Amino acid sequence: MKQPKILIIYTGGTIGMVEDSETGSLKPFDFVHLSEQIPELKKFNYHFDTHSFEPPIDSSNMAPPVWIKLAELIEKNYDNYDGFVVLHGSDTMAYTASALSFMFENLNKPIILTGSQLPIGVIRTDGKENFITAVEIAAAKENGKPIVPEVCIYFENKLYRGNRTNKYNAENFEAFRSVNYPLLAEVGVYIKYNYTAIHSSIEQEFRVVKKIDTNIIILKLFPGITENAVKAILSTEGLRGVVMETFGSGNAPSGKWFIDLLKEVINKGIIIYNVTQCRGGAVEIGKYETSSDLGKIGVVGGSDITTEAAVTKMMYLLGRGYTKDKIEKYLQTSLRGEMTIY
Ligand code: ASP
Repeated sequence: MKQPKILIIYTGGTIGMVEDSETGSLKPFDFVHLSEQIPELKKFNYHFDTHSFEPPIDSSNMAPPVWIKLAELIEKNYDNYDGFVVLHGSDTMAYTASALSFMFENLNKPIILTGSQLPIGVIRTDGKENFITAVEIAAAKENGKPIVPEVCIYFENKLYRGNRTNKYNAENFEAFRSVNYPLLAEVGVYIKYNYTAIHSSIEQEFRVVKKIDTNIIILKLFPGITENAVKAILSTEGLRGVVMETFGSGNAPSGKWFIDLLKEVINKGIIIYNVTQCRGGAVEIGKYETSSDLGKIGVVGGSDITTEAAVTKMMYLLGRGYTKDKIEKYLQTSLRGEMTIY
């Protein structure tokens, strides 16, 4: 068997952090030390190359230009490696995984994002196991084909489809969830792949879309939200898309002022994407009276998509330069397995 080649990319995050001796707060350290921390990697009979972001960044500072830099790095090295492991802070990992899933068209290799809650140098770290297993999954093949040709998150014994996840716990080792989509693999003594949930291999040319339009906002509804607040948000200069986090199965206040405001922006060409504030379940426009008006004025339903995937999908589709109709159609279509079509 050919020796698998894996590219490890360290973007930053707790996994590679140390305590500042003066302030006691966590700060990123050089990737060289990270590889020194995991001598176990040598036991894999794989060829590794590493690339470290300079300087490493806390994932709160992740932004579309950094996604593009990361995507370009993978594009440049795509043909030379069997898989990629991206070490990333957990805070915005679900956004990066979702963004990459859209930016990579016809992806046919594993891109496994992982990180940790405790730095790798700490005795009880969760980082070692996360890192080592992510590497094994990135290299895993069957009949010469990658088992998981997707952008995934691996964390605490579970492999998730990246664009189905959200970070739900700030301190548990099990920091992620994918409520609306099954695990792609579960790890114990064996790595048990859930073959039916995993994308099958695509034999088309890999392409990377590097245009992202950030002229969007999230409008999270809450009882008591004022007309002034909604007006201010919707009059954001340059606004092209709104991810509207609604109640339950896609419901919103039915007051005239609210519906009129939405209608006004829709008529200006702004797209409103209805996603639920609930972590599980889906938007069903028209199920209740409080959502049927939304459908009538042209709000687009996002089914069971996560907010993280909705935000990055909108940025990607607006960046593609498609017409409004096409964007609205794609927002209701599963492009990378990010939503369930009922
Ligand atoms: N603040 C860190 C980050 O997201 C937390 C982590 O690495 O998990 O970069």
